[in-house]
Amino acid sequence: MKATVIGVGSELIVGDTLDTNTAVIAASLSDRGVSVVTTHRVADEAGTLVQILKESLDRYDLVITTGGLGPTPDDLTREAWAEALNRPLVLDETMLKRIEAFFSKMGKTMLPLNKKQAKKPKGARWLPNPRGTAPGFWLPGNPTAVALPGPPHEWRPMWQQLVPQLGLPPKATAKRTFKTFGVGESEIADRLGDLLGSHDGFEVATYAKVDGVRVVVWGRENEVQRASKTVIKRLKKTIWGQDQDTLPGLVYRRLKHEGHTLAVMESVTGGLVAKLITDVPGASAVFLGGMVSYTMGAKAHFGVSEAVLREHGTVSEAAALAMAEAARVRLGTTYGLSVTGVAGPEPLEGQPVGRVFVAVAGPSGKRARAYLFPDQGREVIRQRAAYAALAFFWSMP
Ligand code: AMP
Ligand code: MG
Repeated sequence: MKATVIGVGSELIVGDTLDTNTAVIAASLSDRGVSVVTTHRVADEAGTLVQILKESLDRYDLVITTGGLGPTPDDLTREAWAEALNRPLVLDETMLKRIEAFFSKMGKTMLPLNKKQAKKPKGARWLPNPRGTAPGFWLPGNPTAVALPGPPHEWRPMWQQLVPQLGLPPKATAKRTFKTFGVGESEIADRLGDLLGSHDGFEVATYAKVDGVRVVVWGRENEVQRASKTVIKRLKKTIWGQDQDTLPGLVYRRLKHEGHTLAVMESVTGGLVAKLITDVPGASAVFLGGMVSYTMGAKAHFGVSEAVLREHGTVSEAAALAMAEAARVRLGTTYGLSVTGVAGPEPLEGQPVGRVFVAVAGPSGKRARAYLFPDQGREVIRQRAAYAALAFFWSMP
């Protein structure tokens, strides 16, 4: 089965919005064994869009668009699909009532502009949108046509509902992702040795993310199982998770499972560790709060010994340990987690850009770890520092 995915919107051409939709949908299709050899971005320009849709319908079994289903005159995907499929647009009174209801639930009245969102090409089926006004639609057949709205939070649940109905081939391949932290890509490559690369029936590759280096194994089911065992054996404790695992999610699960609580004190990350933990729904059961102690004064104010800061510096193992302990004491939690470091662009207190210390204080004592991240800019250093704190906490015995 062959498919193409088309992102519609002038903002995608100039990069005002980065087109992630086509890649995410293409990935979900290739995971299911569908061959996606090309994706497109098209401006809100009816003629070109109709032409590309027609060509795609001739070439592929499945043609998917995202975007351009909004109420404004520049959103033309609905009209373009109707023309490419050679079917008139028809108004659906039931859908119109649903859109009106969506507005009244928000305490608003529907504007006449929104009326066109209740239209779909004759014979197409609705893809209801629980999170917005723009429903999508699809026309099963060969080829199958699918129109999804642009915002990812809107089309994702719609896509999940649709995929089982698309009649995709059964899954022939498997994929496993191993997530590591604390070792560089070249060291991972060194440890994996001849396992890296293409083999008969499976492939192994690495790539670096802010939460560490990932190792991906994909191919035939049993080859993937066998290669995965070797990956685990060779990387052992550097692996913190697999596939859908996230560091904040694992930290949450560990605390919840043990019935423990956590507080943070952050310097270099400016609150990012707290943000990542509170991304997890239900985090308040284990995460009580934290402090952003961005200056020496704030650290002292929150209970870090000024003597320690003066003697060792605010970017030091001793400062990190004292911060973790202060967080724990201030909020009365089982654990305190801290992070201090230098995000740049200038070195600080004689410490180089990228130097980061993380520490955990708990009932059985305190531990710290130092990192030196390459200077890839403030943003990357701060993100890696936040994940380092989470990874360190997760790895504590
Ligand atoms: P639209 O449905 O075309 O009005 O798109 C509405 C919003 O969805 C855009 O402003 C973007 O924020 C988002 N969006 C649309 N297309 C894409 C895309 N290809 N990738 C990521 N986000 C998108
Ligand atoms: Mg648009």
